[in-house]
Amino acid sequence: MSSDDNDYGLETRAVHAGARSDATTGARATPIYQTTSYVFDDINHAASLFNLQTFGYIYSRLTNPTVAVLEERIANLEDGRAAVACASGHAAQFIAFFTLLEPGDHVVASKFLYGGSVTQFTKSFAKLGWQADLVDPNDISAVEEKIGPTTKAIFVEALANPGGVIVDLEPLAELARSHAIPVVVDNTLATPWLCQPIHWGADIVIHSATKFIGGHGNSMGGVVVESGKFDWFASGKFPGMTEPEPAYHGLAFAETFGDFGFTMKTRAVALRDFGPALSPANAFNLITGCETLPLRMQRHCDNAMEISHFLESHPKVDWVSYAGLESSPYHKLANKYLKNGFGSVFTFGVKGGFEAGCKMVEASNLFSHLANIGDTRSLILHPASTTHRQLTPEQRAAAGASDDTIRVSIGIETASDLIRDLDQALAKA
Ligand SMILES: *Cc1c(COP(=O)(O)O)cnc(C)c1O
Repeated sequence: MSSDDNDYGLETRAVHAGARSDATTGARATPIYQTTSYVFDDINHAASLFNLQTFGYIYSRLTNPTVAVLEERIANLEDGRAAVACASGHAAQFIAFFTLLEPGDHVVASKFLYGGSVTQFTKSFAKLGWQADLVDPNDISAVEEKIGPTTKAIFVEALANPGGVIVDLEPLAELARSHAIPVVVDNTLATPWLCQPIHWGADIVIHSATKFIGGHGNSMGGVVVESGKFDWFASGKFPGMTEPEPAYHGLAFAETFGDFGFTMKTRAVALRDFGPALSPANAFNLITGCETLPLRMQRHCDNAMEISHFLESHPKVDWVSYAGLESSPYHKLANKYLKNGFGSVFTFGVKGGFEAGCKMVEASNLFSHLANIGDTRSLILHPASTTHRQLTPEQRAAAGASDDTIRVSIGIETASDLIRDLDQALAKA
């Protein structure tokens, strides 16, 4: 099944898309092609590979057959045209924006982003001459106000970590279209099982495959998917896509490769020159994880729903922020944009503030105290004493990490066991 074969259901595609039995051995599972390089047929074959005139394998920093299966699978699940995989979610963001931006360019980003992405955009990207303004993405006039002549993209998380913020993608995509710039969506928390941003007008979708795609907390990875629908020529704002590329003897990526030109350029320039390649072994783990994505996501979501109800009625809990609850200000948007459930990650406030938060995470047994999400195992974190420790209490509150905030990533264990563990931990808080 190839990346454009979308007649099957998402569960079927999660198992099969991009994979074939091995042509020489018949191996049914995708083999780990643990090789750095590939033998050329002859001089002409080598030349056409290097000129990007023939598709094939040269060196695993660029392409690898195991990695290629993951790329096709995620492109298929997102109903995209093509994808490029790399070493981590942050690497995916870096290579995607390197392809989009020139020094001096600007991005309007959501202020509800993964903490690491806030730092990446406001600190490290700034060193490359890329500016970012972070705004509430659901305040369309605030987004529009920040769009200037150098703005080349809008960047949001469809379902945002940690407090279950849902972005109203449709009006945002309409605004981006009116300025001829792409909408880039980090779909890590929702996954295609809950939301396919391309259906709502997104042009590029990014994943930290480290999280739910791999799903077992054992391998890092990232993916950049392109819809194939963005018109790079319309505005003249993307010379990197439309004008001759000196590093490839004058080839213009959008012209030569059409609806997968962005993927080709991201691979052939950003991945080639910066080198954050995904290892074949990690690609294998992520492919294996991906096969059970729909099953796992459903259990994650069902468990999270049950546990959020339990916490909302618990006397030691002040508030619960989960888009699945009717009390959430994002519940209506969640009903529009999410199908099958509301995700696994959410926050709640424990009575007793900072001290109680520390005690609760230390008292939990089944929940692992660590800074990750999207594992089969349930995870718990007190941001104020860990990830947001360096901030003042005011800054923490603004970042959705007030002193009493606990973040959980609900795993796929038995819901009643998780509830029992939280109950005894709350009793000690
Ligand atoms: C983890 C995460 C990232 C970064 O991905 P890595 O694989 O850790 O580099 C980006 N966005 C979101 C929403 C994440 O949860």
